[in-house]
Amino acid sequence: MYYECSSCSKTYKRDEVKYLCPDCSVDYKPGEPLKGVLLAKFDYEYIGKKFTKDNPDVNLFSAVEEKYFPEFKCGNTPFLKFTKLNKQTGYDNLWIKNDSLNPSGSFKDRASFLVVAESNRIKEDTIVTASTGNAASSLAAVCAAADKKAIIFVPESAPKAKLLQMFIYGADVRKVKGTYDDAFRLSLEYTEKNKGLNRNTAYHPLTIEGKKSAGLEIFIQNGFKSPDAILVPVGDGVIISGIYKAFYDLKEAGIISKLPKLICVQAESSNAIHNFIQTGIYKNADNPGTVADSISVSAPSNAYMAAKSVKESDGFSVTVSDDEIMIAQRELAMATGIFAEPSCSTVLAALKKLKEQLNPKEQIVLLITGSGLKDIDAPLKYSHLN
Ligand SMILES: *Cc1c(COP(=O)(O)O)cnc(C)c1O
Ligand SMILES: [Zn+2]
Repeated sequence: MYYECSSCSKTYKRDEVKYLCPDCSVDYKPGEPLKGVLLAKFDYEYIGKKFTKDNPDVNLFSAVEEKYFPEFKCGNTPFLKFTKLNKQTGYDNLWIKNDSLNPSGSFKDRASFLVVAESNRIKEDTIVTASTGNAASSLAAVCAAADKKAIIFVPESAPKAKLLQMFIYGADVRKVKGTYDDAFRLSLEYTEKNKGLNRNTAYHPLTIEGKKSAGLEIFIQNGFKSPDAILVPVGDGVIISGIYKAFYDLKEAGIISKLPKLICVQAESSNAIHNFIQTGIYKNADNPGTVADSISVSAPSNAYMAAKSVKESDGFSVTVSDDEIMIAQRELAMATGIFAEPSCSTVLAALKKLKEQLNPKEQIVLLITGSGLKDIDAPLKYSHLN
């Protein structure tokens, strides 16, 4: 395994770099998307020979050796079709990858898992992160199992259930009077001055690699076939880049020839990546507040790579309003029994608007990334329960 810079394509040996490409990140300023995000590259010829239907071993694509894995099982989440949802939406071949069933209740466990594995490899006992909530509660959980110290910078407005998870799992929580973007900056300052491995999303390249495992699982669970399209909820743009990376790796290894179309779904107010895809001009989202707090961000850390992933997969992007999100949350729950966070209920809200752009006969996957129980304030307000 080695790293390649996503901006300048310069390559680095595994232990030559830790976070970003040193050349491309010199003029990075907090408050803007990261530059010089690194991608892990592999011996694809070797993987292509070993990875078969009889040996569908996701770990062949792992950037960290299995012997460093923490004692924490995540991933391998269900991939299912729901007849009722298909009927209701008018799509014939709609599937759900339900990542709300990870141990801490969100997709973030995949990234936390791999970064903690890396910390085992480099013998680092402290891991630091900034988070809107899920990355932090997830890191806290994996660190608890791996006997590591988690230091977390989180906006004080984070949903209570996520803050409680961090406390219960024993993390050192530093509440930030400010936004997620402020917490991001503070956590970078912390690891520059002190020790500890920074797990910030996209800043640590293995967050993308960790999130890749969901894409590989979809491919395996789908019988070694790529679906036609995957709808992904997008905040910082790391999940969508991770899903892209899964299919990129499969293509490089000669296992597939065509990528699924990746459809970037953002909230109307938190739409920096959507705008960048539409206009080609990058601009921060000025007021990113939305009911979908897990995808609320002004300057998405992985904006450039996310936009590139969407384009190279021949996908597109769409935004949905808070009202559309809250309606979709209940519809999804009532049609499937899955209570999803507002952040990922966006994908059903988007699907309903895409009849023109998507072929309802094609195989389409909705990526459900977090459990609704983590954030009940918004649905409570929308229900007639109070
Ligand atoms: C973090 C998160 C997202 C968005 O992922 P990004 O990598 O920030 O784009 C979506 N849904 C949930 C539940 C999340 O926690
Ligand atoms: Zn570079």
